[in-house]
Amino acid sequence: MADVLVVVDHVEGSVRKPTLELLTVARRLGTPVAVALGAGAGQTAGVLAGHGASRVLVSEASEFADFLVVPKVDAVQRAVELVDPVAVLFVSSGENKEIAARLALRLESGVITDAVDVEAGEDGRPVAVQSAFAASYTTRSRVTRGIPVITVKPNSAPVEPVEGAGAVEELAVDFAAGVRGARVVSRSARESTGRPELTEAAIVVSGGRGLGSGENFALIEALADALGGAVGASRAAVDAGWYPHAHQVGQTGKSVSPQLYIASGISGAIQHRAGMQTSKTIVAINKDAEAPIFDLVDYGVVGDLHTVVPQLTEEINKRKG
Ligand SMILES: Cc1cc2nc3c(=O)[nH]c(=O)nc-3n(C[C@H](O)[C@H](O)[C@H](O)COP(=O)(O)OP(=O)(O)OC[C@H]3O[C@@H](n4cnc5c(N)ncnc54)[C@H](O)[C@@H]3O)c2cc1C
Repeated sequence: MADVLVVVDHVEGSVRKPTLELLTVARRLGTPVAVALGAGAGQTAGVLAGHGASRVLVSEASEFADFLVVPKVDAVQRAVELVDPVAVLFVSSGENKEIAARLALRLESGVITDAVDVEAGEDGRPVAVQSAFAASYTTRSRVTRGIPVITVKPNSAPVEPVEGAGAVEELAVDFAAGVRGARVVSRSARESTGRPELTEAAIVVSGGRGLGSGENFALIEALADALGGAVGASRAAVDAGWYPHAHQVGQTGKSVSPQLYIASGISGAIQHRAGMQTSKTIVAINKDAEAPIFDLVDYGVVGDLHTVVPQLTEEINKRKG
């Protein structure tokens, strides 16, 4: 069976869930070979083996932390040369999309970004499914020459534990001269809310202008916490200064694709839909039965969010308890 290269997202050796989803996707195309880079990369092997990785190529070179993007392109290119995979898969993120694009250029192949699914085509080559034009269309496409490089959105596949050999191999990388182009001069830790990362969360609860004030985002946070979800916001809410921009969902914000998206006090403008319409189940709470958001929901509640959201939170907490 052909090998599929999976580029691992991890934080100091702790593998992030979207990588485990990516291993499920990879197994549809062939045998996953993981490549883990940076501090703690060697510690990822056990988890990766437990999700089907046959080999884990590891490099902990300091260049990955000290310089932007290019060292990782060098390393993944080296891994491609070693493995000769049928595809290279990344988790969709800003940095990974840049690495993927540069890699495809070097491989003289093509890149497909933000796939919501990947399948083996009739000839066994990967076919990527994307959601386009604010999720109004679903496209299926494949790279026509060379080794396809595909980035896949979080929550696109289930996590399925399955034993792989997980043989750890040191990846020796010769870094290109251009590596030193952009150096990281400082880092500061983002304040943790204890909630999952917005783009990776399985549940997202979002609030919009209908909340009426920043203080009322406490209602959204309480519902998100009851569900173990992340908090999102419409641009109107962000522009009003009610919630930080990092939480904006939409065309000019973040793209989310959770199992469950709850929109509260959000009208459903096309630019908001562009960032959340691929969510698996969509629930809206809006007092206006004619709000456009109701055109795309699986479940709609017509009512005042100040009444509905606290009741919903209370009921969920009661059932959990
Ligand atoms: C170039 C461009 C990029 C954009 N990018 C984004 C983007 O990334 N993300 C984004 O979200 N928008 C984006 N927008 C803005 C977008 O067009 C809308 O203006 C915005 O999404 C509206 O936000 P909203 O739904 O919160 O507010 P509104 O459209 O004002 O809707 C508020 C909703 O709350 C309901 N409501 C009011 N009170 C209550 C209550 N008590 N209980 C229940 N429901 C209530 C109302 O019925 C209404 O439907 C962009 C616009 C442009 C031009």
